[in-house]
Amino acid sequence: MGHEADVVIVGGGICGLATALALHRKGIKSVVLERSDTLRATGAAIIVHANGWRALDQLGVASVLRQTAYPLHSVQFIPVHDDNIGKRKVKPYGEEELRCLKRTDLIKVFADNLAPNTVRLGCQVESIKLDPITSFPVLQLHDGSTLKAKVVIGCDGVNSVIANMFELHPTRVSPACVARGFTNYPDCHGFEKGVLIFRHDNVQLGRMPITDKLAYWFLVREWTSQDSVVSRDQALIRESTMQSLKGFPTDALEMIKRSDLDSLRFTGLKYRAPWDLLRGQFRKGTVALAGDAMHAMCPFIAQGGSASLEDSVVLARCISGKMCKSRVDIEEALDQYVKERRMRVFCLSFETYLVGMMNYGRFALARVLGIILLAILFRDSFGHTHFHCGQL
Ligand SMILES: Cc1cc2nc3c(=O)[nH]c(=O)nc-3n(C[C@H](O)[C@H](O)[C@H](O)COP(=O)(O)OP(=O)(O)OC[C@H]3O[C@@H](n4cnc5c(N)ncnc54)[C@H](O)[C@@H]3O)c2cc1C
Repeated sequence: MGHEADVVIVGGGICGLATALALHRKGIKSVVLERSDTLRATGAAIIVHANGWRALDQLGVASVLRQTAYPLHSVQFIPVHDDNIGKRKVKPYGEEELRCLKRTDLIKVFADNLAPNTVRLGCQVESIKLDPITSFPVLQLHDGSTLKAKVVIGCDGVNSVIANMFELHPTRVSPACVARGFTNYPDCHGFEKGVLIFRHDNVQLGRMPITDKLAYWFLVREWTSQDSVVSRDQALIRESTMQSLKGFPTDALEMIKRSDLDSLRFTGLKYRAPWDLLRGQFRKGTVALAGDAMHAMCPFIAQGGSASLEDSVVLARCISGKMCKSRVDIEEALDQYVKERRMRVFCLSFETYLVGMMNYGRFALARVLGIILLAILFRDSFGHTHFHCGQL
């Protein structure tokens, strides 16, 4: 049996839910198809920079979320040597807003603000094609049914099924991986309200408070051959994280030791090459991509999620008022969306790529080149946070 829907969003992660909410605010009905049986937030927390908060303001959910997490005032890099802690390099974050949100809080606030029955759980999309007669998209679902839509937005993440129709280059695998989790401090942790990043060679441990009793941490290091086993077992994630942190301050080690086992996640990183974003096609018929499906990037400047929030605002703004018009009008609106996003996501992705090259480049020359290009092209390392995605 075929079904009909106006806008179908594939994927109920941050980008899919934000896009559904942005459309809802513009009076456009949508359906979100999520393959999981619940709305899950993968990874404990997410750093949201000022540009992300501007998008959350447009979505009308920022004030609720501000009550769930501290504002953070600085980012400090602390070189760690074997037996002493080196000098701090403090980057004040200025007046801009920076907070670290529990991913579950973000997902919940989106879901709470959507129209009833927007999200269909347990609904996996297998493939997509354009109807040869109408040129509108038809989705093939896992249960054997099909769904016809006027518009499909692929928000199905880094391994996107929707992206398969776009003849894009495959995503690449980064040499780095990330372990992350929460640590609860029932009697308050007493940490300063800022992001602390301890560094030793190419191992980095980030720590930041969410509230006075909850801290989020992440460890970035090179992927090793044992890591496919580590990623499947939370006790092993903790153990391997502790092992990577030899010589780091004892309170940092204590934080990992006390971490909440259920919250631990270990992820190998994939990304779309920045130059593929410059020339890639992200709209075909009335199908477009958003979020990681379009611009997966490593988390080195913590912008993938905020860029996805920006996508949602721009996309809803572009297609608003076009849904009852012709297919060609809708295609033009989606082209406008892609045009507005292309340079923005290219710049974010390129800066991320250079940070990765500086820290994880295979050869010394690549690392030096990364440093030089970053100094020339991205002198203000928080410059990307000043971006405003505009009114919804
Ligand atoms: C280790 C790590 C740390 C990060 N830290 C930060 C940070 O601090 N700040 C930041 O801004 N960004 C961060 N990011 C990036 C951020 O997490 C992503 O950019 C963001 O989650 C992308 O959201 P998305 O909705 O596009 O994709 P996803 O979150 O991957 O969601 C995709 C959804 O689609 C569903 N799905 C997939 N395939 C199908 C299908 N065929 N049918 C139906 N449903 C499907 C999935 O189940 C999932 O729910 C980090 C990323 C990583 C890996």
